[in-house]
Amino acid sequence: MSDQTTPRGFETRAVHAGQAPDPTTGAVIPPVHFSTTYAQDGIGGLREGYEYGRSGNPTRTALESQLAAIEGGAHALSFASGLAAEDALLRAVLRPGDEVLLGSDVYGGTYRLLARVLAPWGVGLRIVDMSDLTAVEAALNERPARIVWVETPSNPLLRITDIAGLARLGHAAGALVVVDNTFASPALQQPLALGADVVVHSTTKYLGGHSDVVGGALVLNDDAVHEQAKFLQFAVGAVSGPLDAWLTTRGIKTLAVRMQRHSENAQAIAEFLDAHDKVARVYYPGLPAHPGHELAAVQMSRFGGIVSVELADAAAARKLAESTRLFTLAESLGGVESLMNYPDAMTHASVRGTELAVPEQLVRLSVGIESVADLIADLDAALTGL
Ligand SMILES: *Cc1c(COP(=O)(O)O)cnc(C)c1O
Repeated sequence: MSDQTTPRGFETRAVHAGQAPDPTTGAVIPPVHFSTTYAQDGIGGLREGYEYGRSGNPTRTALESQLAAIEGGAHALSFASGLAAEDALLRAVLRPGDEVLLGSDVYGGTYRLLARVLAPWGVGLRIVDMSDLTAVEAALNERPARIVWVETPSNPLLRITDIAGLARLGHAAGALVVVDNTFASPALQQPLALGADVVVHSTTKYLGGHSDVVGGALVLNDDAVHEQAKFLQFAVGAVSGPLDAWLTTRGIKTLAVRMQRHSENAQAIAEFLDAHDKVARVYYPGLPAHPGHELAAVQMSRFGGIVSVELADAAAARKLAESTRLFTLAESLGGVESLMNYPDAMTHASVRGTELAVPEQLVRLSVGIESVADLIADLDAALTGL
């Protein structure tokens, strides 16, 4: 697999990158390496560079090769969680006095990491609506930032940011442009090819895909930033364990087919909800009325599996969130099963009362890959009961 020169398709890379059969036994699925330490051929004589489980593990290497291949990056690093990956990147790049320009609609935990963990160490934070490039340019003209950080589609309002445009503005201001690609996944959107410097993932979501493993990743081309982040992966130690890495690898192999079904189901559900009289507003980039629809149609190959809905008021939103049967009320997203989330009190509770607060009449759906007729019937019944 390693001697091929023509670039292969996304699905082929997802299945094969880092997955050559085991050279000793021919096992088609490479074994999970649990060993914490490696025999040395004489002092310092390391085989393939493996020395100790925190500094390197073959199962983690396999996942990192696969991640680099599917995001089209030179390097990938795998971590114990999405936030551990974010923390390693931020600490690799930032020094006291540096600023981060953050999207106004990002994962609450990313905001919390910056505002409550890194800010006390002297990191500045400014918030801007990244889908408004004029506002981004004005913010960068006012004062440069070391990092520009965006989520697109954003969480939970599904705002779409022009990644290529943002990368141009960020680079002109000397910033590192970071895209959290968790919502789209590389099956639908390739930020590095659009000019971003670093892709961040919570692999807990679509990449793992089965709600059974927490993990995170960085994918990037820059050698120096990679070296710094890899040093922190080793020196701080928030690495993914072997079984976690293996489960994530297994999930990634089916990413493309899952994203296709997630997107088809989400489109049908968004259209159903959009026509429902109990629903005040639907946020889904696949709906022509969505403000980011045109851009998403160019920047993404499909519109993804997340749909957010505004009800008449907070009480209706809470009641809907608590009355479905197939959609499970739970945090997180991106698994094969459909989930329902009330952001104000669940995923986004940490940004309540801040600039990132979400509407209290909003419910977020992570649409799974079940039979779409069953999902729609479940929502219809719950809406009828409001
Ligand atoms: C879940 C999530 C994270 C954090 O990842 P963990 O794996 O929970 O640490 C970051 N960004 C986005 C968009 C997420 O959905």
